[in-house]
Amino acid sequence: MIPYTRPDAEKLILVLLQARAGGVHPLSLELAGAARRLAAEGDFRTAGVFFTGNLSAAAETALGTCGLEEVWVYQDERFSPFIPELHAAALVRCAETLRPGILLAGATPEGRSVAPLAAVPLETGVTADCTDLAVDAEGLLVQTRPAFGGGLMARIITPLARPQIATVRYGVLRGAEAPGKTRLRFAGAGPLPPARTRIEELAVSNGASGDDDDDAEYALVLGGGIRAREDIGLFKQMGESLKAEVFCSRILVERGWFPQSRQIGLSGRCIAPRLLITLGVSGSVQFMAGIQGAKKICAVNTDPLAPILRIADLPLICDLYQVAALFP
Ligand SMILES: Cc1cc2nc3c(=O)[nH]c(=O)nc-3n(C[C@H](O)[C@H](O)[C@H](O)COP(=O)(O)OP(=O)(O)OC[C@H]3O[C@@H](n4cnc5c(N)ncnc54)[C@H](O)[C@@H]3O)c2cc1C
Repeated sequence: MIPYTRPDAEKLILVLLQARAGGVHPLSLELAGAARRLAAEGDFRTAGVFFTGNLSAAAETALGTCGLEEVWVYQDERFSPFIPELHAAALVRCAETLRPGILLAGATPEGRSVAPLAAVPLETGVTADCTDLAVDAEGLLVQTRPAFGGGLMARIITPLARPQIATVRYGVLRGAEAPGKTRLRFAGAGPLPPARTRIEELAVSNGASGDDDDDAEYALVLGGGIRAREDIGLFKQMGESLKAEVFCSRILVERGWFPQSRQIGLSGRCIAPRLLITLGVSGSVQFMAGIQGAKKICAVNTDPLAPILRIADLPLICDLYQVAALFP
């Protein structure tokens, strides 16, 4: 193929929509809403693409009301189970046809694997794990993401190659959904390259996958202020009393007290609960990258200068063990 560049691209934002639990991933619906906002900023049209082995009624309803102008639904049994290279090949074909100026995908394990695989044949790049998106006065996508270990937020543009591809982390666009009637267009997948990957067995995840897709309403995050491994049970009990999922900062993973899949932050996962309670977490920039979508934050720390207390809706300067004692 001949890669297309800025002058050849359509003023179109294409969203890679992703299936989840028989429906559509909530992050895809957030991306659809964000695409509409960006389209208004830069005078773009919007479209989505959805690859499925078997389109469920729930997915069809969600796609039909996601708010994009149209969604291309490619139904083909080769799309299930998920094989990244097949989804990427189909996405490349779709991009070659529609020639979007911007292509957005979720920073889920699926989106993170498909986006770069598609970028290579399209001869463009990917800005991975964005935390914010905007369109500048020239109509370029401004992609914000933490850089240099989270020490600064980089604003990245792709001036020449098209599409400008960005993956976006879960939770950071929470509330962006903009439901509205969407025209569904059905198409065949056509010839796809033979997959080099063969799925032998699908194992059910026990939550150790590290997916950024936790829908916990309430979350408790434990940090370096926890004194001993034996104390973890106390906080798990507190989590149970509050019906809160228990996570940790990286320091507790390094101490070997939690698996990496429970780590929140830049090199961990993102969560976006209604209420987040942190216990003994200082609030490093790397940690904060994982909690941007949290609606309300209650932070417990003995150090009045701890950065987390500055961003907390309810900062509590006290001993975390005193707080845990309230939940016997
Ligand atoms: C490239 C890179 C990526 C990283 N990615 C991540 C990441 O994804 N996630 C992450 O978390 N970190 C990450 N880090 C590490 C990060 O920089 C911090 O070291 C880490 O977040 C510190 O964890 P913490 O705040 O829980 O622990 P600490 O820094 O040890 O802070 C403990 C806090 O607990 C308070 N405290 C102590 N005792 C009590 C008590 N009894 N009651 C109440 N408060 C108390 C202290 O005042 C202190 O503020 C990364 C670092 C790098 C360089």
